[in-house]
Formats: sequence, C-alpha cells, structure tokens
Amino acid sequence: MRILVVEDDDLIARGIVAGLRAYGFTADTVPSVVQAELALAHAACDAMVLDRGLPDGDGLSLLARLRERGDALPVLLLTARDAVEDRIEGLQGGADDYLVKPFDLGELVARLHALIRRAGGRSSNLVEAGGLRFDPSSGDAWLAGEPVELSRRESTLLASLVQADGRCLTTEQIKDRLYGLDQEVASNAVNVHVHNLRRKLGADVVETVRGLGYRFGWARR
Ligand code: CA
Repeated sequence: MRILVVEDDDLIARGIVAGLRAYGFTADTVPSVVQAELALAHAACDAMVLDRGLPDGDGLSLLARLRERGDALPVLLLTARDAVEDRIEGLQGGADDYLVKPFDLGELVARLHALIRRAGGRSSNLVEAGGLRFDPSSGDAWLAGEPVELSRRESTLLASLVQADGRCLTTEQIKDRLYGLDQEVASNAVNVHVHNLRRKLGADVVETVRGLGYRFGWARR
C-alpha cells in the first residue's frame, strides 16, 4: 500500500516514511502543497498523511481541492495544535482522521490501516478465482485452500492487478505501486516479482499483455 506523506519538517517526514516502510507500506514524502499535487498526479496512492502547516499554505486547502474534484482518497491530517476547533475544521474539511503531534508511529499505522480498509470496504472484498483466495487488505493468499506465503511486494503487486479490475497495468505503473519514488529499482524488478507470483500461485495468475504490461489472469472481463 502506498502512502504519500505531505510534511515540511524534514526530521518528522523522514521519521514517518522510515516507520511506514518498516511496517510494510510504500511511502514517499513531499514538503509542500504544490509538490503534493504533482505527486498525486504522478502516481496513485492509497492514503495521504497531510500536515496542516505547510510553507505554501494550509494542508486543508489541498484537501478542499481534492474533495472538490470528487477524490475520496483517505486523508489523515496532522496538526501541532490540539484544539477542538482545529479538529472540527479538519473533519469538516474532508479529513478522514486526525492526529496531533507528537504522535506514536504505531498509532499512525493502525489508523492508516483502518482508513484504507474502510475506504475500500475491502475487509469483505476477498477475491476468489481460479483456485486462488486473496485478501487485498491483509495480503493473505490461499491456493486450493492451502495458505501461500507472499512477500510484501508480491502481495502489493497482486492487489494492484486485482484492483485494476481487468485493466492492464504497465511496468511503470506497477513500479510506482511497489517502490518509493526515491528508491533505486532494478530494471527487471517487476519481472522478478511476476515470476515469483506465477511460481507460487500458478502461471495463469498474471497475464502478460504483449507490449503493454500485465493483467490479473482471472479477472472477469
Ligand atoms: Ca509543518
């Protein structure tokens, strides 16, 4: 799952990103409203951690624009102020949740998991196809009833393909889902993950669309 962290305090931002990565998220950080807009346009994410006090504006203004264009991306607001009015303002502004600094990283992670689950209604969204049973929110997979151990990137890849709903994803799009923007990625990294998924779940789980990319092999089309 990919999280965009919008925070201008470098120390806090790096702490959050390192923590999220340790908890198995893909995470990137940007320090301003403008760069957050660019990052959102560049790659889809599953949730955003948004600081209110940013050098080029209040995080709430970015949130307002998101909601205006009908974007329901789960947003967790961060603020330094623990005032009831601030909390109300944030929630009325379209935030899904709220944390006051300083906060516990474990709590941030738990709340993000809850937001993402709620957003997708994915707790009940088990995928069952071709002998595969897969829970995109937890990454748990079973083949013919037997549990299959997937790595974090393998389950993220499978979840991305499943959620593409029959559409094909390019290698670039998949890379963006699996890795942070600042991470060095081997050119064949996606190939390797696809290969491993096929080895564990059967060759048909991922369909190669020649010249385009990959598609979930058992999508209803
Ligand atoms: Ca700030």
